[in-house]
Amino acid sequence: MKHYHYIFTGNGLSALLTLFEMIQSGRFSDKKILLLDSDTKNKNDRTWCFWDSENLFNGITTKNWQQAWFKSENFINKLELFPYSYKMVKSADFYKLMFDTILQHKNIEIFQDEVLEFSESGNNCVVQTKTKSFTCNQIFNSIYSSELVNAQTKFPLVQQHFIGWFVKSKEVVFTEDCPTFMDFSIAQKGNTRFMYILPTSSTEALLEYTLFSKDLLSKEAYETEIENYIKKLGITEYEIVEKERGNIPMTCFPFWKNNSKNIINIGSAGGWSKASTGYTFKNSVKKSRELVRFLQTENDFTKFHKINKFWYYDLLLIDILYQTNQHGSTIFSNMFKSGKASLIFKFLDEETSFWEDLQVIWMCPQRLFIKALLKRIF
Ligand SMILES: Cc1cc2nc3c(=O)[nH]c(=O)nc-3n(C[C@H](O)[C@H](O)[C@H](O)COP(=O)(O)OP(=O)(O)OC[C@H]3O[C@@H](n4cnc5c(N)ncnc54)[C@H](O)[C@@H]3O)c2cc1C
Repeated sequence: MKHYHYIFTGNGLSALLTLFEMIQSGRFSDKKILLLDSDTKNKNDRTWCFWDSENLFNGITTKNWQQAWFKSENFINKLELFPYSYKMVKSADFYKLMFDTILQHKNIEIFQDEVLEFSESGNNCVVQTKTKSFTCNQIFNSIYSSELVNAQTKFPLVQQHFIGWFVKSKEVVFTEDCPTFMDFSIAQKGNTRFMYILPTSSTEALLEYTLFSKDLLSKEAYETEIENYIKKLGITEYEIVEKERGNIPMTCFPFWKNNSKNIINIGSAGGWSKASTGYTFKNSVKKSRELVRFLQTENDFTKFHKINKFWYYDLLLIDILYQTNQHGSTIFSNMFKSGKASLIFKFLDEETSFWEDLQVIWMCPQRLFIKALLKRIF
């Protein structure tokens, strides 16, 4: 059985970011590393967007917007994002950049196979794939399993689920320099539902029908809503260039409690998806940096995670969305009504002071949050 220092089970976003940080640090070139994934990771399987103020991945950014629309039933707000911009990165470009770098390093091997199981025994770990077994000192696991979250009720699971169509229209209808961050003017049907539009030209855009709710819809239900919205925009003829589908966990479930001395869960599997928004890209950049810094002085993965005040804020929002899903539109609309996008982004990036937290919390419907807090306490 071949032995490695580190094995990555799953090599999507969080694994590649972590490995990239390890390479950049120059501190792991003597460690044998294996990447295991059932997929080739060379297709555009998702489009990532995130707000950024530090030139992250500028070389592979497809779009970079300085403004964004927020639309509710009662108002439309054009948000000025400065000092942030809202960026789009296609996963195919990201994977290429990462693998071009990885392939230059002889200490890293890639093997395409399905991981069946992995475990820790003594000071070693064993990974079983469909065709082979490997041993290693430590595992970074990014294979998400919903079983653990579904097996408990203390930390509810709301899902961010969506289908997106990348369309090319006959009519000039999109404002290329301004995406629609959330459009809550669509029928809520007792849930938190919005349209998300990422224009790449005046006739091309990715349109996503998105819900933050407990249960998924049928494929037809998302697609009918996209068709209706396209008609509402005044488009009479269009071509669907690409489709994407996603289901991101929004939960405060303490994934880190499943880390052991030698196995760490990363990415969505490690709770790196921000519970209140489902955004994972930026959080994974931050967490992978923290993890690689941590690895340079520590090797017990159970010591990695630290809980912060933002986890408690997210917990209340998820409780509200889980129990009274129809309130999502009011909560997000109240937050974005002020137009202070930079403060909200800073808050969601978990970088605000307590005084700034209060300013954001003050924008939200307080009655709902006080009720959720009392329910948690008692
Ligand atoms: C369509 C889509 C759009 C998204 N858009 C955004 C966005 O705009 N902004 C944002 O912040 N987040 C977004 N997300 C959420 C999040 O950023 C992504 O899901 C991100 O890829 C999560 O990273 P990860 O490392 O946790 O998982 P992944 O990137 O999914 O990596 C996990 C890897 O494990 C592999 N794998 C799974 N099971 C096995 C197995 N048994 N054996 C071997 N390999 C296995 C998979 O092939 C995959 O490569 C989006 C998600 C989706 C699905």
